Amino acid sequence: MIASRIGLALRRWVDSAAVATAEPAGDARAVDWPRVVPFVAIHLGCIGVVWTGISTTAVAVAAVLYLVRMFAVTAFYHRYFSHRSFRTSRAAQFFFALLGASAVQRGPLWWAAHHRHHHAHADRPTDCHSPTEHGFLWSHVGWFLARENFATRTGLVRDLARYPELRWLDRYDVVVPVVLAVSLYAAGEWLAAAAPGLGTDGWQLLVWGFCISTVVLWHATFTINSLAHRFGRRRYATRDDSRNNAWLALLTLGEGWHNNHHRYPAAARQGFYWWEVDLSWYALRALAALGVVWGLRPVPAAIRDSQRSAPGEGRR
Ligand SMILES: [Zn+2]
Ligand SMILES: [Zn+2]
Repeated sequence: MIASRIGLALRRWVDSAAVATAEPAGDARAVDWPRVVPFVAIHLGCIGVVWTGISTTAVAVAAVLYLVRMFAVTAFYHRYFSHRSFRTSRAAQFFFALLGASAVQRGPLWWAAHHRHHHAHADRPTDCHSPTEHGFLWSHVGWFLARENFATRTGLVRDLARYPELRWLDRYDVVVPVVLAVSLYAAGEWLAAAAPGLGTDGWQLLVWGFCISTVVLWHATFTINSLAHRFGRRRYATRDDSRNNAWLALLTLGEGWHNNHHRYPAAARQGFYWWEVDLSWYALRALAALGVVWGLRPVPAAIRDSQRSAPGEGRR
């Protein structure tokens, strides 16, 4: 039984559609340790910095990869795939899906399906990651480490599943992170030979550009499920515990305006006023000016100015 469970976990490292002839027994909400070994290993990989050291090049690569991948997650995995808040071409859709997959947060269908489920059940017992219902740790990491949320909820993303290239990426989501990691190592080795003055090499770029950048990116993303339902202001009396938090908005390129977002998820912007910094929105405006995306859905003024709640007022 244990052997079949480990075998299934190993197949799921490379093929998220791998199924068991009989789903292993056990608590579906417990951490599926064999399957999440890569998640743990990338955290441990950060310790490698003790041996690789630091260079300006490595930190710059880590920072750029953080920003680009956070943009792909917030603007595309979230605002485009989950909420269809703007439009783009099929080629750009796939390009940004690939970029989103490089954030190592599974494929676009899995991500969007669980997120749509979250909006439909937000902060009720059926919500897959509510901190008020299930605690901080579950909302931050527990929910996706458990077996019960591993499968893509395909019924919630039929509009996206029409595209075979997206289904392929969702099934083999591991491909993009592996290509990124190998490319970083190769680039670092090349730089070590071609520009030794930069003081970097393959292992150093792997640790900074992949491990450290990805771990920071992960936990920044996870704060929207955990902290942004606990800490911040509630401008709107939504049926959940979502909050507006400027610090989280800066960290996640705009996602911290989470109470705004739960009030009107269809909008392409989450900072509803000019002073609510939403870097993904500015970048989307730039992509729209270039003709890469179009039809950015605005926030209707009547919604923006409606249903105010007293500062700090909670759902209960
Ligand atoms: Zn939420
Ligand atoms: Zn959302």
